[in-house]
Amino acid sequence: MRVFACPVCGEAGVPILYGLPTPAAMRAASAGRVRLAGCVMTPDQDQWACAAGHEWRAGDDAQLGAAIQAAIRAAE
Ligand SMILES: [Zn+2]
Repeated sequence: MRVFACPVCGEAGVPILYGLPTPAAMRAASAGRVRLAGCVMTPDQDQWACAAGHEWRAGDDAQLGAAIQAAIRAAE
């Protein structure tokens, strides 16, 4: 899994997961592997978040999806 660094503070980013989380997604969030967001989706929503609370966009949807899948698989 590719890690995207925060453009502000340089901390490693975790993918932001939108929508209703599955139990595995909630475990992944508890482990700090994903950030859960609400169900409201906008075209320019942020995709990544760091531990300091910064959020940003990076990469493409495929990379984001792969990062989310990897985080959830690790929590199953
Ligand atoms: Zn940051």
